[in-house]
Amino acid sequence: MEYLATLDHEEVLIRRGRRSGLFTIVAVHSTARGPALGGCRVWSYDDARAALRDALRLSRAMTFKSSVAGLPLGGGKGVVMLPAETRVSAARRRAALQDFGDTVDTLDGRYITAEDVGTSARDMTVIAEMTAHVTGLSRRRGGSGDPSPWTALGVQAAIGVSVEEVFGSPSLRGRSVAVIGLGHVGGRVAKACAKAGAKLLVADIDPAKKALADALGARWTTPEKALLAEVDVVAPCALGGVLDHETAPALRCAIVAGAANNQLADDVVADLLHARGILWAPDFVANAGGIINIAVELEPGGYDPRRARQRVRGIADTLRRIYADARAIDATPLTTAHELARQNLVR
Ligand code: NAD
Repeated sequence: MEYLATLDHEEVLIRRGRRSGLFTIVAVHSTARGPALGGCRVWSYDDARAALRDALRLSRAMTFKSSVAGLPLGGGKGVVMLPAETRVSAARRRAALQDFGDTVDTLDGRYITAEDVGTSARDMTVIAEMTAHVTGLSRRRGGSGDPSPWTALGVQAAIGVSVEEVFGSPSLRGRSVAVIGLGHVGGRVAKACAKAGAKLLVADIDPAKKALADALGARWTTPEKALLAEVDVVAPCALGGVLDHETAPALRCAIVAGAANNQLADDVVADLLHARGILWAPDFVANAGGIINIAVELEPGGYDPRRARQRVRGIADTLRRIYADARAIDATPLTTAHELARQNLVR
C-alpha cells in the first residue's frame, strides 16, 4: 500500500550540493507562527520520491507540533539524501552538511535547522559554517544541546497523562509498557518507566541494546512482537509509520504513546485505533519536548534549562486538554489536536 503526502507547503527547495553532489531538500510547510523550525535528517532513501515525501510529511508535522505547543515557530524540515547503496566517506558527508547549510541560507531565515535522525550537535556546527540559521548547537557554544532528554521528558509526561485517562491514575507501578527503539529517546523513556515501577518489554533492531534491557530487568523481544504485545502501553521510539492498516487492527495494547515522528501511516489509522478503544497520544504532541527546549534557546533571555523543564512539563496539560476535548465530542485525539493546532495557527 502506498501512502501519499499532502502538498500544502509554502515552499520546497531541492538543490544538488556543489561540494558533495548529493541532493539536499528543505520543505517549509508554514511560517504563520514564526520561522519554520525542523531538524535535518541525513538518511539513505531508496529513491528521491521517498526523500521528498519524508521532507513534506515531517515539515507538516512540525507545523502542528509547534502550533499545539504554542511556540512562536512554524514547521519545516531538512533532508540530506544519501545514496542507497554506496557508503559515504566522512569527508563527503561533511561536504553534504555544508551544502545543506547553503540551502538553508538561501531561505534567509524562513527555515531554521536543528538535529534529527542521523545528525548530531557536532553536525550543526558544520552547517553553522555556512548559515546562521541553526539551533541545537552544543551547550558549550551557547545552544540548548542534545534535545533527546527533553523529548524523553515530554514522552514520559504523555505516557503518564494517557495512563491517567485510561486507568484513572497516572502511576506506572505495575503497568506494562513496551518500548520499541532504545535510542537517545527510547533508552531514557525505558529507564524512566522502569524507575516508575512499570513491567518493561523492550525491542530494538540493534542487538547491542539488549545490554540496557538486561540492566533494567526488562524482557527483550523483536520490534514486531513488542508492537503487538498485550500490554498497557506501547511506546514507539524508533522510526515512523508503525501504525498502519495492518498493524492497527492487530494491536493488543490500551495506549500508544511514544517519541517516533509520523507514527500513523495515514490519518485514517487514528479512526481505526479510536474504534478499537485504543488511546493514541498524537506523536506531534507527545514528542514536542525537544523543540520546546530549542524554542527556549531562541527566547530573548537566551537558554535556561529551568525554563525549559517547566515548558516541557506543560505537554501534560496540553494533552489533558486534547483528551478532554476528544472525550466530549467522541472524536479522536488526532482530530482535537489538529483543531487546537489550527486555532493557534490563526491566532
Ligand atoms: P536514535 O537514532 O537515537 O534511536 C533510534 C533507535 O531505534 C536506535 O536504537 C535504532 O537501533 C532503533 N531502531 C531503528 N529502526 C528500528 C526498528 N524498525 N525497530 C526497532 N528499533 C529500531 O533516535 P532518537 O533520537 O531516539 O529518536 C527516536 C524517534 O523519536 C525518531 O522517530 C525521531 O524522529 C523521534 N524524535 C526524536 C526527538 C529527539 O529529540 N531525539 C525529537 C522528536 C522526535
